[in-house]
Amino acid sequence: MDNRASNRRQFLETIGAAGAASILGNAVWENRPAAAAEAEKLAIDGGTPVRSGTLSASPYGPQFYDEAEEKELIEVLKSRSPFRWWHAGSKVLEFEEAYAKHIGVKFALGVTSGTAALFTAMAALEIGPGDEVILPAWTWYADYDAIVLAGALPIFAEIDESFNIDPNDIEAKITPQTKAIIACHLQGTVADLDPIMEIAKRHKLYLLEDCAQCCGGKYKGKYVGSIGHIAINSFQLSKSITAGEGGAVLTDDPVLFERAVRFHDVSSLRSPYSENLKGGLLAGFASCNFRMNEFTGAVMKAQLTKLETICERLRRNNRVVREGIADLAGIKLRKWPDVEGDIGYGVFLDLGNRERRDRFLRALRAEGIAANGPSGSVILPIDGRIENKLTVHPAWPSFNSPRGKAVEYGAKCCPRTIDIIHRFGGVMIDPNFDENDLQDIVKAIRKVYPRIAKA
Ligand SMILES: *Cc1c(COP(=O)(O)O)cnc(C)c1O
Repeated sequence: MDNRASNRRQFLETIGAAGAASILGNAVWENRPAAAAEAEKLAIDGGTPVRSGTLSASPYGPQFYDEAEEKELIEVLKSRSPFRWWHAGSKVLEFEEAYAKHIGVKFALGVTSGTAALFTAMAALEIGPGDEVILPAWTWYADYDAIVLAGALPIFAEIDESFNIDPNDIEAKITPQTKAIIACHLQGTVADLDPIMEIAKRHKLYLLEDCAQCCGGKYKGKYVGSIGHIAINSFQLSKSITAGEGGAVLTDDPVLFERAVRFHDVSSLRSPYSENLKGGLLAGFASCNFRMNEFTGAVMKAQLTKLETICERLRRNNRVVREGIADLAGIKLRKWPDVEGDIGYGVFLDLGNRERRDRFLRALRAEGIAANGPSGSVILPIDGRIENKLTVHPAWPSFNSPRGKAVEYGAKCCPRTIDIIHRFGGVMIDPNFDENDLQDIVKAIRKVYPRIAKA
């Protein structure tokens, strides 16, 4: 038996009958008590760890860098034209067209970062002083900062056990000033967009999808980013595909797109956007430079061709771990609004409270498996600079209206979010984990969880 086959056999033995049956789709797999591995002394109590060293996921995109990125980059170097304009052809433009086609939207715009994409989206939606925007209490700073720097007022909604905005908490937060809802698809899991879009339509609000942590994710068969009125993405190192930095704005609406193009490029509408938008409808306005450069466009063009491979491997690896622990008594996993469309960045378990969650994480780490609570986002309302509404100028429009002065952030505006983020813990998945790695994760969780959950 070669190594792989023997690994596979040990793997199946380790995960026990139910796990093996669900992986193999083989209900008659030998029924062996799953308790053997679980009786071992935990590494945290001085037992032998499942794994020596630590197994952890690494940034996904760079693991797939190869001749494709190299070729595209060298072409830019040799062209001596790293600016996206002033020459025929453009890597950024090629990337934009391929990306829009892939996701299934009419228009995509490359920008310098996900944060710049959010600023651009705010401008596209004409969000400014007097407007309110609803966002989840658990997400990245940029969603809050883009609203505040547009002069508008951020209003937080709670998350649910998908770690994404709770559709049931949105309507209570709507006022006559509300202009948009930001739904974020965090850590690879899509937000439940049907009820959110229904609320947006009923109240005539824009839905902005923040896909920065879910590039390639799907909701009911459609790519995220193609469902709301406008969407953003980030190509920073920790996202599905990356050029180190970079971002994009996506939309089907030619007016929103024109405003985005003008805002990101000192108000100009250059060729071929001018032809695509038939000369455009809008006059110029105070704007920015968030243009993507050709090196970034080159890398992103090549990375896009690997997006499906990365997502498929993540999904597959995630499923192996999930199915390998599915029969553990009392187990409760993070909620998936669309399990097929999820890209499976991580597997998270509900440990009931923070103290038990932290013990679970420490015990898993002792077994040689990197483990963490939900990450990559922040419980924004309890962050000091947000709780205290700090801005660079004391007369900031967001917080100087009667409503802006009255709104209170802090822990009392998001008790459920705080509770959820502190009671879930788990393991991040890597697209290149092999069977042995997955076996060790399953083995470690099966060893640790039953005893921590009981304690
Ligand atoms: C990373 C991220 C951003 C910002 O993207 P940058 O490219 O880092 O500016 C915005 N929203 C979410 C949810 C993110 O994870």
